[in-house]
Amino acid sequence: SKDPKLQAIDLSKLQVQKTTTPKERLDNKDLVFGRTFTDHMLSLEWTASNGWMDPRITPYQNLSLDPATCVFHYAFEAFEGMKAYKDKQGNVRLFRPDMNMARLNRSVARIALPTFEGDKVIELIKKFCQLEERFIPSERGYSLYLRPNMIGTQRTLGVGPPGSALLYVIASPVGPYYPTGFKAISLEATKYAVRAWPGGVGNSKLGANYAPCIVPQMQAASRGFQQNLWLFEDVDAETGKVEDFVTEVGTMNLFAAIVNKEGQKELMTAPLDGTILEGVVRDSILQLARERLVPEGWKVSERRFHMRELAEAAREGRMLEVFGSGTAAVVSPVRSIQYNNELVSCGLTEDVEAGQITKRFKDWIEGIQYGDEAHPWSVKI
Ligand code: PMP
Repeated sequence: SKDPKLQAIDLSKLQVQKTTTPKERLDNKDLVFGRTFTDHMLSLEWTASNGWMDPRITPYQNLSLDPATCVFHYAFEAFEGMKAYKDKQGNVRLFRPDMNMARLNRSVARIALPTFEGDKVIELIKKFCQLEERFIPSERGYSLYLRPNMIGTQRTLGVGPPGSALLYVIASPVGPYYPTGFKAISLEATKYAVRAWPGGVGNSKLGANYAPCIVPQMQAASRGFQQNLWLFEDVDAETGKVEDFVTEVGTMNLFAAIVNKEGQKELMTAPLDGTILEGVVRDSILQLARERLVPEGWKVSERRFHMRELAEAAREGRMLEVFGSGTAAVVSPVRSIQYNNELVSCGLTEDVEAGQITKRFKDWIEGIQYGDEAHPWSVKI
């Protein structure tokens, strides 16, 4: 839908139908990720002939779709994950919502679903969050998880671009990822299953990327590992050798902090080459690292790196920290990576659950998310 007429959303036409049966709010301690939802949902319908129709906020309710609807057969579905936070003054804040809207637009465009004006949907999400304000806990670490979702709704088994779509947003109050403090995780470096490849769709947030990762995740879990570290085997352009390049972890991007061969501290993460999701937290960490760690002498790199390089750093005592990054946990410290027959230790002593750099990023980013630090990334509603 490159035609701007079909893209236009009319905010003045928002219809709000409030629930007559408000739900009871769970105690903070009983919140389980993605298990309970708020009273309402935000919906926008689209058709190829009329474009986006009037936005609606309605009571949270079932969808009614024909069994032949294209989403059920050919996976026309893309989604986002973002959060609303409550600051000390009681204001509700979003964190870089423009990044989520831009990413959703890239994801939906890849599967022939209609694009939309991200800034207008942010305005609608703000209205939705205001309405659900009582579901947003005010304690640090708690938030309202927002799940924007777009599906193809055309009733057809024909394989083609959907002639109709539904964009909706639901919300689930969530607690801290690590309620009792950081707990370092162990990863299984996975090669027999490949999450993404050049020319594929690993950089799009499509439901179809997630379902195939569950079986490898269960297999890693059966061997005692919390997550898969997704590898991609490729020729190293510099040496001509085949290497296992590090891409990302489970549903997080991966950062490694090492002392490099030149003796400089280096924070690195895989580049945006189409095989990893362009994480909002990844981008935030890179920007903060360039601002705040480079002056301390760090090198910050978006570059390819492989398991042999990490294993070598660990063996030579140059491994500092490894952590995952994502909206759910902000950062998630990694204790070790099982790679072939080697357990690569990631710089934590047995009694320590997170390294200094990992902790600093968590503090910096949460400080911005919860409005303790004034920053343009935090958007007050
Ligand atoms: N990679 C994958 C595969 C993910 O699902 C996520 C979660 N959205 C991330 C990385 C982290 O992205 P973000 O920082 O935007 O949450």
